[in-house]
Amino acid sequence: MTTSTVSAAPAAPAESKPESNTRTSNDRPHGYRFTGVFAFALHHVPTVIVMAALAALGAYGHSTHWKLPRFSELTGSSTIAPDDWCEEHAVPESNCVECNPDLFPPGPDYGWCKEHGVHNCPLHHPDVAQLKETPIVPEDWLSQSAGDLSLLERTHNNAACKVYQRRIQFASVEAVRQAGIDVELVDRQPVSEWVSGNGEIRYDATRLASLSSRVPGTVWRVFKNIGDRVREGEVLAVVDAMEVGHLKANLVKALVAEDLAAKNYDRLSGVTAGAVPGKQVLEAEAVLSSAQAEVLSAEQALANLGLRLTVSTMRGISQATVVERLRFLGIPQELASEFATETATANLIPIRSPMDGVIVQREIVAGEVVDPADALFQVADPSRMWLMLNIPNEQAGLLTIGQPVRFLPNGSRQEVTGTLDWISTSVDRQTRMLKVRAVLDNPDGRLRDETFGTGRVILREVPDAIVVPSHTVQWEGCCQVVFVRDKDYFSSPESPKLFHVRSVRTGASHGGTTEILAGLLPGEVVVTEGSDVLRAQLLKNSLGAGCCAE
Ligand SMILES: [Zn+2]
Ligand SMILES: [Zn+2]
Ligand SMILES: [Zn+2]
Repeated sequence: MTTSTVSAAPAAPAESKPESNTRTSNDRPHGYRFTGVFAFALHHVPTVIVMAALAALGAYGHSTHWKLPRFSELTGSSTIAPDDWCEEHAVPESNCVECNPDLFPPGPDYGWCKEHGVHNCPLHHPDVAQLKETPIVPEDWLSQSAGDLSLLERTHNNAACKVYQRRIQFASVEAVRQAGIDVELVDRQPVSEWVSGNGEIRYDATRLASLSSRVPGTVWRVFKNIGDRVREGEVLAVVDAMEVGHLKANLVKALVAEDLAAKNYDRLSGVTAGAVPGKQVLEAEAVLSSAQAEVLSAEQALANLGLRLTVSTMRGISQATVVERLRFLGIPQELASEFATETATANLIPIRSPMDGVIVQREIVAGEVVDPADALFQVADPSRMWLMLNIPNEQAGLLTIGQPVRFLPNGSRQEVTGTLDWISTSVDRQTRMLKVRAVLDNPDGRLRDETFGTGRVILREVPDAIVVPSHTVQWEGCCQVVFVRDKDYFSSPESPKLFHVRSVRTGASHGGTTEILAGLLPGEVVVTEGSDVLRAQLLKNSLGAGCCAE
């Protein structure tokens, strides 16, 4: 970008510069010798390179119908007087805007902005921006920027520092190029800031079931295996348990006793009043009540095992029919008819899935003796998973329920997104980490239980933050600064080649770019490559100037 307009002045005015440094001019100190890359470039560019550059220029001109200007046009004057050189600022003395501020009066000085922590705040005073037209800064930018600055610990600038008033001048566009300086337009890009931690995917504990047999017995059949999808209520296995047979027999007995008691009561209470002593009727009634209670109790005992029935349908039918109806109680019809040919037992009890899901654990084989304490299956619904993250406790204050969470499983390149839904109330005693949880949707089942990875809780996300390449920002000792190209840099060949020093506050920084929360506006042009050269020049000039540089 620096070379898009070619208005080259002599490559090395230093060649005509007298070696003496005792010369004085304008009462300003000129005791400094050139040091660093800048001086090297000015002193030691061999004539060969200049010739080569001119040849290249000629070739360029030929292809673009641009004619090589006369030397006087290049310099902007017929020649540089041999003693016209400002050592301190490395430009011809007659052009030095720092020594002759009238040549190029500095812009307005608004001083320190307390709210944004920069000098000459472009958010509050957009006219300081090096743009042809004063930009309009929307009202909400100011508070947004201040809020983002206070969200996390940021680098601070020194309010008393005067370095922002400095301007760094180059003798020519060519001198800028030779110093290895490149510039870029201040860009807008999405950025985000987060806290991160290691984490692990787990089954959602509210969607995980561990199944066991409610009574001791022997596994009679297993129908499902690990990985099988099951529906709520589906039979996974059948257990042969003696207790089931006992309870069914109890119910049959109770039904028989109830039937008998009912008949007896009906007979006694039906006869003409007075023919049977009232006491006998009362006794019969009591026996009936007791028998009914027995039925209820037997029914309840079966219901406790998940074997439900409507006891009224068992009344008024033959005992053999009752027994037949109870035989495969709780077993689905299609299985019952299959089993009827294989076994005479009435001890079977099904193990059913309590929800839709996937079998994630199976601990049994047919014939195995099982106990209510044994887990036979685990069924999970993996359509939603839990992410458990460990966040350093110092960052706990930044977390809020509902913040977006991104998780990158180890070995995967695709992040999954969820929402923070729980923050532990205690810190791990050993690791000093805080456990937080996010719920992740897993419709395609890609997320697996006990997968490790890295998670990020997103603190802020901005779609159009102001960003610059990270090496644009320099630390001059007490402030973060960038070098902004003057807006009139290319206005004419004579316009001074100036870069303004601007203090900035930085935000997010990743992938080689750094967010500028305050100090720059979009569209400004900043020094990227070679910003360290300008910093060196700035520090060189600042020495002895009573500046704050450490
Ligand atoms: Zn000067
Ligand atoms: Zn401000
Ligand atoms: Zn400073």
